[in-house]
Amino acid sequence: PRFAHDYLQVRGLRVDFDGFVAVDGIDLTVTSGDLRFLIGPNGAGKTTVVDAITGVTAATGSATFGDVELLGRSAHRIARAGVGRTFQTASVFDELTVLQNLDIAAGAARGPLSLLRRRTSVPPEVDRALETIGLTHLRDRPAGVLAHGQKQWLEIGMLLVQDARLLLLDEPVAGMSHGEREQTGELLRRIGVERTVVVVEHDMEFMRRYASSVTVLHQGRVLAEGTVAQVQADPRVVEVYLGS
Ligand code: ADP
Repeated sequence: PRFAHDYLQVRGLRVDFDGFVAVDGIDLTVTSGDLRFLIGPNGAGKTTVVDAITGVTAATGSATFGDVELLGRSAHRIARAGVGRTFQTASVFDELTVLQNLDIAAGAARGPLSLLRRRTSVPPEVDRALETIGLTHLRDRPAGVLAHGQKQWLEIGMLLVQDARLLLLDEPVAGMSHGEREQTGELLRRIGVERTVVVVEHDMEFMRRYASSVTVLHQGRVLAEGTVAQVQADPRVVEVYLGS
């Protein structure tokens, strides 16, 4: 892989919301080439872990990507370290075309006026991202007309052109049709070959099909970790899911 040295290493991560400990000392190691799913019942702390890693929520402990300590850095600095995330609701500019959205993310659009000019060439990284997310044929359509799934893929494309090498995706298939879910799974597999991908997910069927490894959180702690088969066979995991 291109980024063989990349990996996310989280040690003793702790998030305390005014005395309520939402994340209680989590260790997590995710290497490039892995498609790690982060699962667990509602309130387990999944989103808070992602928020802590991306600088949205203050945390203690350590979270490094490559050589960079992420905790305590600004969200901007964390993005520059190659860390990108998506949210459940895609944040794309509806009035702009697919291509313009990618241009902006790539920093290729120099000032608002450059968006009005007719393009003569598409930067290679934007072209590659269009290909990867399967939206080349829609590149000149306004993002507002895209289907829900396509918008989510565009958002992932925006991370790719920013050269995010660690992608944290929050429920990427929520609200998607069966076909869109399959396409998203294939997209994640393609991305996961060279990049480090962490997927927060509720959809257990999707997790079973596409996870290469799974971390189960419960009450702010790691309850189990391993392959899909290993965590599914773990009686503690079964208990937490049946009891929730
Ligand atoms: P999950 O993503 O696994 O559903 P969350 O990370 O969203 O869980 O939440 C973990 C716990 O932290 C929950 O009990 C939630 O209510 C609490 N929590 C999340 N954000 C805040 C906040 N800003 N202030 C106080 N409590 C919070």
